[in-house]
Amino acid sequence: RKLAPPPSSTRVLAIANQKGGVGKTTTAINLATALAATGYAVLLIDLDPQGNASTGFGLPRNARGTGTYSVLVEGTPVADAVRETIVPGLSILPADPDLSAAELELVSVERRETRLRDALEAWPDRARHHFVIIDCPPSLGLLTLNGLLAANDVIVPLQCEFFALEGITQITQTIEAVRRRLNPGLSLHGIVLTMYDRRNNLSDLVADDVRSFFGKKVYETVIPRNIRISEAPSHGKPVMLYDFRSPGAQAYIRLAAELVDRLGLPTDRAA
Ligand code: ADP
Ligand code: MG
Repeated sequence: RKLAPPPSSTRVLAIANQKGGVGKTTTAINLATALAATGYAVLLIDLDPQGNASTGFGLPRNARGTGTYSVLVEGTPVADAVRETIVPGLSILPADPDLSAAELELVSVERRETRLRDALEAWPDRARHHFVIIDCPPSLGLLTLNGLLAANDVIVPLQCEFFALEGITQITQTIEAVRRRLNPGLSLHGIVLTMYDRRNNLSDLVADDVRSFFGKKVYETVIPRNIRISEAPSHGKPVMLYDFRSPGAQAYIRLAAELVDRLGLPTDRAA
């Protein structure tokens, strides 16, 4: 694994969509893994009380210890809660079992929308990391708001299904509102079509529709519906480690390459 030179700045990417089951966590895990495999230093943050990103790296609820709840609500330093993963170059800030309480408890905390941003700014290791990837919960509450205020860019996964376009205006309007009022540096980096099924005409119709509406904002890489992707988390592994040759693993590798290319970073460091 050839390492990328130290970053000039850290890109913070939030993976967000208020709809559940669209592929946020899957994209967060596998994009983070593919970026780390390319030689970048990456931190994955699990901001969803369901903790699926943590479980996906073999950290069951009872084994997580300190995590995002402690960081957000109790002010625990990020460094005290970060763990290594089985992927070299990728560490994780897991969701601790208390995270579901954070949505309510944050309401009465000072600077409640910028707790994550403040914590990341105070993290001494930040400057060493090329990417921070935030897996947001399926809602637009204070947890997601913390994700959007900490981020430079948002990636919106969109499932290739009939009502895809209806749901997406809610998240794009939220991003726009946050950009105008709270985080001028925020932008929608791109929309990634997930669970694409080439045997299903509807998948193509939805993909065409989304592309004609959002144009270049839609990544060229499409993530296929692939059983290996859904099996991998139960083995505590990203799909690249579970079945490297699967279409799902290869698609996330291409998505990472497309992302770094669009960001103007080198794509050819993979060992
Ligand atoms: P979200 O985080 O948006 O709720 P997930 O990433 O957890 O969505 O995905 C929802 C479910 O769909 C999970 O069981 C996941 O394993 C499965 N899944 C996600 N992407 C794919 C895919 N490309 N092919 C097959 N199953 C997928
Ligand atoms: Mg999720």
